[in-house]
Amino acid sequence: MSNKENLVSNKCKKCGYLQDISHLRCLKCKNNTFDTIEANGTCVLLTYTILKAPPLEFRDKGSYALGVVQFENGIRALGQIFPKENLRIGMKLKPVYEKICNNLDGNEVYSYVFKLIE
Ligand SMILES: [Zn+2]
Repeated sequence: MSNKENLVSNKCKKCGYLQDISHLRCLKCKNNTFDTIEANGTCVLLTYTILKAPPLEFRDKGSYALGVVQFENGIRALGQIFPKENLRIGMKLKPVYEKICNNLDGNEVYSYVFKLIE
């Protein structure tokens, strides 16, 4: 098992721009103070692609969908989309934290998968 990571973003205190927490300065206004905000609720699919020749760790799947989603508070995240059939831009999804593969050392890898809301 691994510790569940939260889906977070930094929001610039000066201009409100949302960006990944790895950046030390705002990409828009160069300010360096942020509020960390967490994804909440459901998200919508912004864009996706179907990987037909996945990386080695994912070969057991054959193919899968990888997409970008956006939450109600603006946070965007990249991850697998499930199921991969009948995807539509704008469809509602929910984040589920689960095992996504075994890495090449045989260790379990966990991440968010964005799943269709029934
Ligand atoms: Zn800014």
